[in-house]
Amino acid sequence: MISKRKHIIIAPHADDEIIGCYDILRSTEDVIVIYNEDMTKKRKNETKRLTEFFSNVKAQLFLHQIPQHLINEDTIIHCPDPIYELHPLHRLQGNIGEQLLRYTGANVMFYSTNMNAPYIYEIDNPNEKEKVLNNIYYSQKQLWKYDHKYFLFEGHCQWINKNYFIKQNKKDKKEIPNKVSSEIIVKDEKGE
Ligand SMILES: [Zn+2]
Repeated sequence: MISKRKHIIIAPHADDEIIGCYDILRSTEDVIVIYNEDMTKKRKNETKRLTEFFSNVKAQLFLHQIPQHLINEDTIIHCPDPIYELHPLHRLQGNIGEQLLRYTGANVMFYSTNMNAPYIYEIDNPNEKEKVLNNIYYSQKQLWKYDHKYFLFEGHCQWINKNYFIKQNKKDKKEIPNKVSSEIIVKDEKGE
């Protein structure tokens, strides 16, 4: 089910897409990675190697924003977690994901890179993940060499935007609230 959609991975830095979304990269068919970082030519060249390992990566974009046409119901947008992540740039990108989720009903899924979130799990093939990281991002090797959490774990968390969900369900009915307040939600819960 999850693999049929286009997956957009927002990577604040080159290597976050593998550290945080390795399972997404290896289990889905159609992926676009958007890097936000202004990076050196050397780092940029490293990122290009991603497609050598993942033929499902259809595009790698170097942009400071998510193109509007990629925000729709057929895409899942993977952003760093806005709360549990530590790096300010990760939180900022997470916050953009949160705004999208709250105000557009986009499918947003949050991921962890510091593995400090309550929803992380042990991945099936940590050795493979380590190997891919070493192969592609050789310059960053020291990061995971002494801290194995980067390739041992991963975590994905989806928040449900209930306001938007209720709006969608009510589409065919007469009253479509422009703005769903918490009062309406309580009413709906009791009525259904
Ligand atoms: Zn990062």
